[in-house]
Amino acid sequence: MSLLETFGSLVFNDAVMRQRLPKETYRALHRTIAEGKSLDPQVASVVANTMKDWAIEKGATHYTHWFQPMTGITAEKHDSFLSPIDGGGAIMEFSGKELVRGEPDASSFPSGGLRATFEARGYTAWDPTSYAFIKDDTLCIPTAFCSYGGHALDKKTPLLRSNEALNHQVRRVLRLLGHLDVKKVTATVGPEQEYFLIDRDLYARRKDLIYTGRTLFGARPPKGQELDDHYFGNLKPRVAAYMREVDEELWKLGVSAKTEHNEVAPCQHELAPIFTTANLATDHNQLTMEIMKRVAAKHGFVCLLHEKPFAGVNGSGKHNNWSMSTDTGLNLLEPGETPADNAQFLLFLVAVIKAVDLHQDLLRISIASAGNDHRLGGNEAPPYIVSMFLGKELEEILDAIEHHSAYVAGERTEMNIGVKTLPRIPKDTTDRNRTSPFAFTGNKFEFRMPGSSQSIAEVNVVINTAVADVLMEFADRLEQAVDIRAAVEQIVVETIARHKRIIFSGNNYAEAWREEAHRRGLLDLPSTPDALPYLIREENIALFERQKVYSREEILSRYEILLENYCKVISIEAHTMLDMANQEILPAVMRYAGQVARDGADAWRLVEDLDLEYEKKLLRRLAGLINGLGEKTQELDQASRGLDAAGDSLGKARYCREVIFRRMQALRALADEAETLVDKRMWPFPGYGELLITK
Ligand code: ADP
Ligand code: MG
Repeated sequence: MSLLETFGSLVFNDAVMRQRLPKETYRALHRTIAEGKSLDPQVASVVANTMKDWAIEKGATHYTHWFQPMTGITAEKHDSFLSPIDGGGAIMEFSGKELVRGEPDASSFPSGGLRATFEARGYTAWDPTSYAFIKDDTLCIPTAFCSYGGHALDKKTPLLRSNEALNHQVRRVLRLLGHLDVKKVTATVGPEQEYFLIDRDLYARRKDLIYTGRTLFGARPPKGQELDDHYFGNLKPRVAAYMREVDEELWKLGVSAKTEHNEVAPCQHELAPIFTTANLATDHNQLTMEIMKRVAAKHGFVCLLHEKPFAGVNGSGKHNNWSMSTDTGLNLLEPGETPADNAQFLLFLVAVIKAVDLHQDLLRISIASAGNDHRLGGNEAPPYIVSMFLGKELEEILDAIEHHSAYVAGERTEMNIGVKTLPRIPKDTTDRNRTSPFAFTGNKFEFRMPGSSQSIAEVNVVINTAVADVLMEFADRLEQAVDIRAAVEQIVVETIARHKRIIFSGNNYAEAWREEAHRRGLLDLPSTPDALPYLIREENIALFERQKVYSREEILSRYEILLENYCKVISIEAHTMLDMANQEILPAVMRYAGQVARDGADAWRLVEDLDLEYEKKLLRRLAGLINGLGEKTQELDQASRGLDAAGDSLGKARYCREVIFRRMQALRALADEAETLVDKRMWPFPGYGELLITK
């Protein structure tokens, strides 16, 4: 098959619908998709039948409602198309009802207390704005997952609601600016996905990688990423073959991905898709992660999506590129050519600036996880403090606008927005700040804090909602204005003055920035338990309720789930460490100490006056390490037993961070020291050198 034929060949997309559905049905469905009109059951039944025939032609035998519960991965429950009929035969069946609504046995998915036992069964509802596709001979129908009380139990439902909030408020503003033709506005998203690829056989020998996705022990190799430039000269054939297959599998599913060799850490790579709507991008990213893992197994690799698989080496993130687009083809963050366009651009730009400044806490929370806590703040990842980078030109322009002064760059321009043309804003500013959390990159913003394993749903829920809320306020003001142009200018100037504290273009790692950020009143929330309590502040609940994205109950339940997840991760890590320390590391160090002692004694029997000074010193050091490891292991064990008594969910999460995690670090430090001393052949699992360099 040619590339063009491959692309989207397993997707029931618009082209397939247009070709296969009766005209009337296609039009009705299209209205549902484009304008959010509700779907007629009769239409659903025709669509279901057509979808089934198409899927069977493509070799599918089953169908499933594909959804994104709060576990962060996708869930499916497969049902056969086959229905038995009288007389022992069977027919292939798939009704409109089965397309539109499903009832997975949902009691095992986290609900944070939302799903009382009397409504144990949640239901899934078709999301016609994301195309159905075929995976593993199964027709997958993207769905939202709710409780019978109507509460969202998944990540898609709030994302769809936030898209709607943004759509509504942006259109209000656009109407005031004279765009009467715009029917729909969507958030556009392109998530760049980073990942590690390591050898399957080496992986299989490390319990920490198997159970937790990251190394809990591991001494730094003498040659880390700083020396590895030559290694990236060419792609290893095995990696190249992997990437080719990932690309092809994703293309079939309509994901326009391109895997690339990444020149950052050894064994680390990146996949960048072409941007699409926030909803599709989120579904596609979930599929991408799944396909990357699956194809890796076929090539003798394991794909690690953890944010920080290796201490001291770059972690993996997911850059969430975000903008807003109209159905008439306008990118609202594209600087324009005319004065009017520029006023519009500046209005949306300052809306995002204000949204980020006002909702730093929610942005930090949207990417908070035990894994991402390790990644932020070092090795080219953004810090914990949310700030924005606009580039030199744009910063100077905003400054000039704020002070009604002349902007000097080539030609002199009186800076009154909406009056004169803005100076051109270069697309690819070379002074790009790689560690800025939230950077303007020419015609979109790039949010760089998300972790590689996280769903991008929450991130975009927060950005969409925060921007929608600011635009609601702008629209309210503009609707009262007599002179729209003057009002726009006033809003822009005022917003810059009030929210410029969030803009920072210096070194994000400098201690001086931290101090400066504190002076500016920016939030500094280093860990997940530090950040999560902000989620349930009254002002945040009010924001989400105002924009109809989450109800109070939904926020409270998500808060519980996030805290629970955090504790679960730390707790599993602690137990894995205990196993490895007790069953593998301590025995290895003791065996090596025994060996050193026996060899010394043997040598001394042979030549009586040998002083064996080094052997004695080494033995003492090993004995000290054995003692220390024994002690730290016990301390961690005790800490881990104390978790249940550590109070409510927040108390437990804090205990995980302040007690368990600290003790994990103490144990690791000793084990890593031992690794550098013990005979390599006796070390029970492959070290960083082997994991990261060989392939
Ligand atoms: P950069 O080099 O700045 O990272 P790229 O052109 O490589 O920029 O794009 C990075 C990602 O941003 C890609 O996934 C791309 O599809 C996405 N992107 C580009 N334009 C937009 C947009 N208007 N909205 C959302 N994402 C976008
Ligand atoms: Mg990028």
